[in-house]
Amino acid sequence: MMIDLRSDTVTKPSPGMLKAMMDAELGDDVFGEDPTVRKLEEMCAALFGMEAGLFCPSGTMTNQIAIKAQTQPLDEIICDKLSHIYNYETGGWAFHSGVSIRLADGERGRMTAAQVNELILPDYDWYPNSRLVAIENTVNKGGGSVYSIAEMQALSRFCRTRNLTFHLDGARIFNALTALKATPADLHGLFDSLSICISKGLGAPAGSVLLGSATMIKRSRKIRKVMGGGMRQSGLLAAACIYALENNRARLSDDHDNARRIAEALVDYPWVKRLLPVETNIIIFEVEDAASIAEKFANLGVRTSPFSPTLLRMVTHLDVSLSMVNTLIQQVLPAI
Ligand SMILES: *Cc1c(COP(=O)(O)O)cnc(C)c1O
Repeated sequence: MMIDLRSDTVTKPSPGMLKAMMDAELGDDVFGEDPTVRKLEEMCAALFGMEAGLFCPSGTMTNQIAIKAQTQPLDEIICDKLSHIYNYETGGWAFHSGVSIRLADGERGRMTAAQVNELILPDYDWYPNSRLVAIENTVNKGGGSVYSIAEMQALSRFCRTRNLTFHLDGARIFNALTALKATPADLHGLFDSLSICISKGLGAPAGSVLLGSATMIKRSRKIRKVMGGGMRQSGLLAAACIYALENNRARLSDDHDNARRIAEALVDYPWVKRLLPVETNIIIFEVEDAASIAEKFANLGVRTSPFSPTLLRMVTHLDVSLSMVNTLIQQVLPAI
């Protein structure tokens, strides 16, 4: 039996999800005629209190469209140095939008209004225009660290007073809300745009939704098309996303419990030199040689992600059962 802890993206559609896909009502979404895609977009917009939504193939696309739709060349965006936008989107801000990026040195990927304040540039010819602030919640590279509602509110207020657009990369926002015991309604009114991924812990095979004002989403639709992201009978995927939102949100706390149990077991081993605090479903720990420890895990049937020469990441998700966690803790860890 393989225990795949590389990412919460490795989940396969469940029989219930596949049935929802087979039963989906379909149309051509480039013509705006797929009722299932429309239903998903409206459902997400209502959930997060935004005017409109746009279904996209990936979270990279929703983030990059949000940047493109809300900036122009000579603008600058502000992110944390650990952010997905900076690290894992192929430098898309420059490629698609012709903007520059300025990085905050936050605490496990979380920046404060005071840190953002120091990165805002005055209006001189030799500086780009500080335009958009993007935060990530949870922060993947921060070990699934969570911004509290109060921290997001403070950043939102700050962005409003400084006339900065505020974007949330909410690839794992449902993990954050689960950890905070909060609901999407707690985020109403905080952001100009939100990106949510249904292909992570919620278990859909693909799909992210960008949320914003009606005007912003109308423009984003055109940008999605020029990026090649206009899909036809994509209700097939949207149906999987609707199923995921309706059935797989409540169980995210199981993933968090599993991650905490694994973390509590890991600290007992001398080859684990440091463990980032585990708040959600991501476990990042330091070892001497990540590649060789990952290989040992692989030989024992456990797949992990080397995150740097000395960091390993494990992620729990809906295809990781309690018995797999027990096997990992009782049999695999002692054999490393
Ligand atoms: C996964 C992820 C994304 C989007 O990734 P895709 O693979 O393009 O869907 C964006 N932000 C964060 C924080 C992520 O973890």
